[in-house]
Amino acid sequence: MNYTIEEIKNKVDAVYDTVVSMRRHLHMYPELSEEECETSRFICQQLDLLGIPYEKDIAGHGISAVIYGKNRAHGVGLRADMDALPIEEKVEIPFKSKNPNIMHACGHDIHTAILLGAAKILNEMKDDLPGSVRLFFQPSEETIGGARQMIEAGCLTSPAISSVLGLHVDSSTDAGSVELIPGAMNAACCEFTVVVTGKACHGAHPNDGIDALLPACTMVSSLQSIITRRIDPAESVLITVGKFNSGTKENIVSGEAVFSGTMRALDMRNMDKLKTYLTDLCKSTAAAYGASCSISFSGSYPTLENDPKLFDIVMKTAKAVLGDTHVKLTVKPSLGADDFAFFCHESRGLYYNIGCRKPGETDAYPIHSELFCPDESCIRTGILTQVASVLHILKEEEKTW
Ligand SMILES: [Zn+2]
Ligand SMILES: [Zn+2]
Repeated sequence: MNYTIEEIKNKVDAVYDTVVSMRRHLHMYPELSEEECETSRFICQQLDLLGIPYEKDIAGHGISAVIYGKNRAHGVGLRADMDALPIEEKVEIPFKSKNPNIMHACGHDIHTAILLGAAKILNEMKDDLPGSVRLFFQPSEETIGGARQMIEAGCLTSPAISSVLGLHVDSSTDAGSVELIPGAMNAACCEFTVVVTGKACHGAHPNDGIDALLPACTMVSSLQSIITRRIDPAESVLITVGKFNSGTKENIVSGEAVFSGTMRALDMRNMDKLKTYLTDLCKSTAAAYGASCSISFSGSYPTLENDPKLFDIVMKTAKAVLGDTHVKLTVKPSLGADDFAFFCHESRGLYYNIGCRKPGETDAYPIHSELFCPDESCIRTGILTQVASVLHILKEEEKTW
């Protein structure tokens, strides 16, 4: 199996226009997390046309497909997320979203199209591939973490998948370039909800009841002391309270207050500390005000930790196919979270950013904006880097099978 860079580039050029039209179709018909029904149907149609076997309806509307190479028992994986966001698109393009209040504002239409393009090329190469390639079309990245469910459904087995690559569009980097981060790239996260219970009474006689709102306010402001006084200041952690509800009327002492937020940590060990400190602080504050409280945690993701060996391979491959100046090394991780972290946790994983800013543009809108408008040429970069990296990784991993 020895394809030259020129040969791979020619294959990417040959599929590019088709992949762009697939992306535009997906962009026009975006679907929310857990509702990716038509998106899934579209992907299955494309896989049928290519003759690639797959299983559908995994983790909801997920699809797991396999391109069998010479070794049918071992392989590597490529992952694309499929879901869109509850946003009304404001970009005036011919393929603007036709689904009201839903938009592919996180570029998952691009990711899915890139994976379909890579699938076509790798399928053409299958007789030469030393191992198999698993294609993960993953649902619900934005909400419940479809990655974990696909893994729990056994998608990393038969063939055994030792390495998974994923990519995400990034509007702070020019299209044509990629950005790689060694080690921890995204934070572990965990959502929390605190319910403070008191006893409602007339606002003129607060001593007849127990105010739930006041201790809840104290908790929200005191939580920040965990970051500045309980955790090593050299560590990256955060607590954000994004929602707070309490009270029914201006002259009634509130009997219940509910607030919720998210906690992030680059080091998983700090996540356990955050949970303990938050619980202690809320319980003791409630007690000090004569109220009570309950705390629940949900939606935990581990840290997204890039594998050093895969990092080296993809870095080297990206430089070879894109040129040194189009490969950015960044050492600053983000406290954002992505469920690709589960792939990194359960196998070796490498997640990287592909630039999608029009070269020369200075005010590109970021992902999750109603005006997000990626330069479609990033599709070419994505397919090229993914295909070339898979070939390189299979060659390396073949030695260990
Ligand atoms: Zn997103
Ligand atoms: Zn995303």
